[in-house]
Amino acid sequence: MGETCKFNTSLLHGEGSQGYGQREILPPICQVSAFRYESMEELEKVFAHKSMGYAYTRIGNPSVAAFERKINELEHGAGAVCCSSGMSAIASALLAVCKSGDEIIAGSGLYGGTIDLFHDLEKLGIHTVFAGGMTGDAISALITDRTRVVFGELISNPSLAVMDIPGVAESAHRAGIPLFVDSTTATPFIAKPLTMGADVVIHSTSKYINGGGNSIGGIIIDGGRFNWDFCKHTALEEFKKYGRMAFSVRLRTDIWENLGGCMSPMNAYLSYVGVETLGLRMEKICRNADALAGALDKEPDIKVNYLTLPDHPYNRYVDTVLNGYGGGILNFRTGSKERAFRIINSLKYALIASNIGDLRTLVIHPFSTLYVRTGKEETEAAGVYEDTVRVSVGIEDEDDLVNDFIRAVRESRE
Ligand SMILES: *Cc1c(COP(=O)(O)O)cnc(C)c1O
Repeated sequence: MGETCKFNTSLLHGEGSQGYGQREILPPICQVSAFRYESMEELEKVFAHKSMGYAYTRIGNPSVAAFERKINELEHGAGAVCCSSGMSAIASALLAVCKSGDEIIAGSGLYGGTIDLFHDLEKLGIHTVFAGGMTGDAISALITDRTRVVFGELISNPSLAVMDIPGVAESAHRAGIPLFVDSTTATPFIAKPLTMGADVVIHSTSKYINGGGNSIGGIIIDGGRFNWDFCKHTALEEFKKYGRMAFSVRLRTDIWENLGGCMSPMNAYLSYVGVETLGLRMEKICRNADALAGALDKEPDIKVNYLTLPDHPYNRYVDTVLNGYGGGILNFRTGSKERAFRIINSLKYALIASNIGDLRTLVIHPFSTLYVRTGKEETEAAGVYEDTVRVSVGIEDEDDLVNDFIRAVRESRE
């Protein structure tokens, strides 16, 4: 069914939405730590992977597995692993392919937590090289014989740089390197990176996938197509017999299981329920964001950063990579920090909160919060200045939202 029907239908009726034991329409919440067996022989078989079954929720849980199957189907993956957060997903995925002495090529202007993680990895002997832009040529120039993975965000948060997935994938693959894409801000509604050449997709499900702002989570989806060279990817050597599934198997049975960053069954359930409306929400969010960006852009002293604006440096990718949509994040510059604060404080419908992908519109002054510990150069590379306001657009009625922002902007003029 997933093959022939469109996005919203497959979200509700695909294979990933079926097969619960008691005919429930949603997966039951298996809020337990462990599973009991009738005999020791049975549990022995489960541990030896000789029979299907759950033993302990850190290693597997039916509610979490239901959410994994749903997102795996949505992204056209070969297997998915849920994590306790987006950061846990990124860390687990990178640690599954890299070891001391290896190099990562990463996009610039990434999510602040991810930049911090790359600094942590330096201390473990894993070095990251940041690319100026995520195009095939830019990546080719940085690949060395130590490079093990290329990592980037499809739409970077908050700078709104777009990765040319087909171009980057081609350059990486030519050198025997896989491409990992953090697609949190794009969501599978806007793009499915595995179908464009990426090898692994990662989401912070805390954002648009959950959509209601009620649980932290992450997920890693493996396309299962990358042809690992085990002489190069020595971190996967022990898992050689699994061939193209070596990454997935190492992740699930080794790194992820041992780091212990599992998703809670309750969060899996809430995110499962949330993702069923992803299509409806994203369509509305993108329409609101497009209208808000257009209206703000007409104000003479406001500089708007939103992908569908015709003069945006990445506008050419909106139709080719992003399915015609600009996403739910927009930034605008106001001229000064004081004015940015005045605007933020006077908004009626936007909540001042450090998150994206909620139903409610959220605003923040990223310079004094998310980037307060980041150096000036990295902050500006992320498109964040002292006068920048970041907006995560919600599903409010368009007129209410636009009128409120325009009023706040006009009243903030001295
Ligand atoms: C929020 C976010 C993360 C981190 O996810 P958490 O669930 O907060 O750990 C990673 N990447 C991007 C692009 C994000 O927006």
